[in-house]
Amino acid sequence: MNDHRFSTRAIHAGQAFDPTTGAVVPPIYQSSTFVQDGIGGFRNGYEYARGGNPTRDVLQEQLASLESGTRAFSFASGLAAEDALLRSVLTPGTRVLMGNDVYGGTHRLVNRVFVPWGVTLDTVDMSDLDAVRAALSVPTAVLWVETPTNPLLKITDIAALSELGRAHGAVVVVDNTFASPAIQRPLELGADVVVHSTTKYLGGHSDVVGGAVVTSDDGLADKVAFLQFGVGAVSAPMEAWLTTRGIKTLAVRVAQHSANGQKVAEALVGHPAVERVYYPGLPEHPGHEVAKRQMTAFGGMVSLQLKGGAAVARKFAESTELFQLAESLGGVESLMCYPSEMTHASVKGTELAVPENLVRLSVGIEDGDDLVADVLQGLERAGA
Ligand SMILES: *Cc1c(COP(=O)(O)O)cnc(C)c1O
Repeated sequence: MNDHRFSTRAIHAGQAFDPTTGAVVPPIYQSSTFVQDGIGGFRNGYEYARGGNPTRDVLQEQLASLESGTRAFSFASGLAAEDALLRSVLTPGTRVLMGNDVYGGTHRLVNRVFVPWGVTLDTVDMSDLDAVRAALSVPTAVLWVETPTNPLLKITDIAALSELGRAHGAVVVVDNTFASPAIQRPLELGADVVVHSTTKYLGGHSDVVGGAVVTSDDGLADKVAFLQFGVGAVSAPMEAWLTTRGIKTLAVRVAQHSANGQKVAEALVGHPAVERVYYPGLPEHPGHEVAKRQMTAFGGMVSLQLKGGAAVARKFAESTELFQLAESLGGVESLMCYPSEMTHASVKGTELAVPENLVRLSVGIEDGDDLVADVLQGLERAGA
């Protein structure tokens, strides 16, 4: 299967038809335990569903293939996946270096769970390679990279950071949630591990919460496998199945997200009410050249700052019809978020705080012209 191209693998990797019935779609094995043919006689290795379930295995095989890794592990949420990965690498006294605009939940996980356990957390501007190099002069166990970032869509150079991190003995982790493997594959660029919130583009329909770890490092994979089994934050069969179904259309969805993202971003550039547009597909974006090198399209996330300040930004966030006001991203439907009071409310007053005139769009796969019209009428209604 792995000699086929991405869209083919998205549909076929791990998806052998059911041998007993011929069902084209591998069924949901909603079973917690498996009959043994005599004591210890496991059928295909299945014993108890925390340790392994065929529906989860289908998803894991699909994820490994799409991220160009050898092994993948699916979890009940993105943060559960991150937790298992971090636990498999960190011990008290070790250090994590992450971006200063990392996903808030990731920062909270390390800062509130791992730091009290004795881990050190430092942050740096990951788009500044010299700053990262300087920060790596202190021994570092994990270099945590996220690109594009949330919500300012900063781009960091995965290949350069992977080389730098490895040279300093750090495990290089890339949170690939915002791009998805349809347009960016960090393991091919030298990263050690990819993590995902499959809740977002991979699931793609805003109907399931999940996470994943993918790697080609067997030692690391064995540790994550143990924690998946030993701690048990596994994805349930129904959730794994929904995610698998979503992934089959990932390539076409992300192509449309990207086309619409570009269209909406271009419509906002130069609009009299708009102070600044953040989208890596715009030539004036500071990360555009790096993005062009490491991504095959620029995705569906667009942020903008409004000249009218917080009041107009808030009004705008409540004035669109197709873009619904909600957290999360990556689903087929367009969503709008006011980060400083929503996704980033908990980091007000810290270095992770975001501007109060900022609005983030998760551009969906509706008709692109309808989305542009909706954003423009929203600006008008906001009195922008
Ligand atoms: C949503 C998200 C997470 C956390 O995933 P959950 O599935 O919500 O636990 C991690 N990283 C990024 C970039 C995200 O957007």
